Amino acid sequence: MTDNLFQADLLDGRVALVTGGATGIGQAISRRLAQLGAKVTIASRNPTALQDACERFRRDDDLDIAWKRLDVREDGQVKMVIDEVAAAHGGLDILINNAAGNFICPTAELSPNGWCAVIDIDLNGTFYCCRHAYPYLQASQSGGRIISISTTRANTGWPGAAHAGAAKAGIQSLMRALAVEWGNDGIRANFISPGPIAGTVGVQKLYEDLGRSEEMRAQTPIGRFGEADEIANAVAYLASPAGDYITGAELAIDGGRQWNFGV
Ligand code: NAP
Repeated sequence: MTDNLFQADLLDGRVALVTGGATGIGQAISRRLAQLGAKVTIASRNPTALQDACERFRRDDDLDIAWKRLDVREDGQVKMVIDEVAAAHGGLDILINNAAGNFICPTAELSPNGWCAVIDIDLNGTFYCCRHAYPYLQASQSGGRIISISTTRANTGWPGAAHAGAAKAGIQSLMRALAVEWGNDGIRANFISPGPIAGTVGVQKLYEDLGRSEEMRAQTPIGRFGEADEIANAVAYLASPAGDYITGAELAIDGGRQWNFGV
């Protein structure tokens, strides 16, 4: 349904790195960017998942997507992977900060390790990626783009996953700061805040396994969960020239759930 929404060469020749691009929302983003002509690399920890995803991209979508093993918590690894991607493709134009970890835990029972693990992946990992991508994004002929995947829960606080809500709120603040600091370098820094997205591990862990799917659907004015392709289309829009004057912005894609306080 969404494949022909955009001009097929919209992102022709742009170089993109998607963290956590082997699964879920990151996979849909990677596919869409490649379908629109970008040279995409996906990066995360699990080489089997990365390899499988790239084989599926090739077999099912006729797309050539590269992969790199990466733990975004490791600053040195982040620098190495970004340098390698830029060396292989002649630069870096689009950085998608999508990698994340999460679990449900009441804050009173949350260990410092649990807290730090999520802050490390989501917030620190996003900072390392932005920091090392900066010189390449600054040099980008098309204008560098950073798009981070947040959550609407960052705006409200997230009871039961305060660590993830706090990490994502930190990412949102970082994007706004970079929008200002790096605006004159031609770089745009924005974030997308999804609501529950169907078919993802996130929805399975946070809602389906806890028997909360119907409750979540009922809270969503549009009456359904989102699709990963709907997040991918928003990324395509922000990465394209249509996003030239958009920076420091949040694009919430949650079917209106965050505004449903009842009547
Ligand atoms: P997912 O399938 O679990 O994807 C998370 C990805 O992050 C995985 O591919 C994982 O790959 C990677 N990752 C985790 N730790 C990493 C690390 N230390 N270094 C590098 N990569 C790491 O989750 P998803 O549901 O599609 O979520 C994608 C994004 O959307 C996340 O930022 C999430 O917070 C956000 N979001 C999702 C929903 C939803 O409904 N699903 C709603 C709101 C926001 P490896 O295991 O191979 O490292």
